[in-house]
Amino acid sequence: MLTSMDFIKSIIYEFLSYFVPEKVEYKISGECKKCGKCCNYMYSKDTYTEKEFKIMQMIFPKYKRFYIKGKDEQGNLIFACKLVTPEGLCSDYKHRLKMCKNYPAKKINYPGKLHQGCGYKVEEINFKKFLKN
Ligand code: SF4
Ligand code: SF4
Repeated sequence: MLTSMDFIKSIIYEFLSYFVPEKVEYKISGECKKCGKCCNYMYSKDTYTEKEFKIMQMIFPKYKRFYIKGKDEQGNLIFACKLVTPEGLCSDYKHRLKMCKNYPAKKINYPGKLHQGCGYKVEEINFKKFLKN
């Protein structure tokens, strides 16, 4: 059961997360192989419980297309999108979310990794810049 305090706390955390400096920048190469893994297995860096998941959907109604699929070995929630077809394709490609269009993101503020077999390759470039300087 969601309390108003849960809701307020989630909004504050969500708001604060926009002020975390982006630390990791990637060079992206390769292309999508249309396997559908990124639509079927998603993580959120700050959504750990079902309650937080529901609050996230209340704050961002566009995320109502996602549902909880399970948990990984560490207990992190795994989400999936209701719009991915059994063949791994987007059934509403024209209206897919900005995060889908930008995947894989070039800049993120937490360590990320691609799914095994993904056609993209990512190379962290901040460390190279550090060496150059
Ligand atoms: S996991 Fe990679 S290859 Fe598979 S659909 Fe997503 S972006 Fe494309
Ligand atoms: S909207 Fe389409 S591209 Fe985005 S997660 Fe859902 S199925 Fe994948």
